[in-house]
Amino acid sequence: MEKTGDDRKEAMEQIAAEIKNLTASPLYEYRVQKGYFPVTGEGALDAKLMFVGEAPGEREAKTGRPFVGASGKVLDELLGGIGLNRSDIYITNIVKDRPPENRDPTVEEIKLYAPFLMRQIQLLQPQVIATLGRFSMDFILAQFRSPEAGKKISILHGKPLKGQASYGEIDIVPLFHPAVALYNLDRRKTLDEDFQALKRHVQGG
Ligand code: URA
Repeated sequence: MEKTGDDRKEAMEQIAAEIKNLTASPLYEYRVQKGYFPVTGEGALDAKLMFVGEAPGEREAKTGRPFVGASGKVLDELLGGIGLNRSDIYITNIVKDRPPENRDPTVEEIKLYAPFLMRQIQLLQPQVIATLGRFSMDFILAQFRSPEAGKKISILHGKPLKGQASYGEIDIVPLFHPAVALYNLDRRKTLDEDFQALKRHVQGG
């Protein structure tokens, strides 16, 4: 049966509650010590476009909201550039707690948090998943059995790829992580172009 908005909200709250109590996570103690929040995700629960980042940074962990720091500012500009805002989409990360010093997430952390992301995807059933950075690209391409899985982001960025979800065929658009635009102007240009490709693809044009 089709899920109602209330069903989705309740299921998402259940996911958030489980993440909050994830004492098995190697990041749990650090979260509690620092007074941080887990970052479940945010946006429209009926969004057809979902963005998947890597893991929360400091600002995100302090607020419990995804992409609200420096890279979030870049992401907002990129979204604005294609006429979208956050209420049109859903944004989350693979890893829901902040790794210390913004280090890369470990294989173990990705394994532990990935089932929550998969439940979120199953709940929203987005038609398009835009990945931000190589960790989420690698994970999503493998998970949805894309023939391109394992290739480098420098080759795949901005290219709409096909994936197989339990609810049908989906489109995956790998993008560079917006943080790279903070220190590399060429990458910012590439991100602008790739967002235009995403826009054309989302609109089907
Ligand atoms: N970087 C990410 O990958 N996710 C966030 O939520 C913030 C920064």
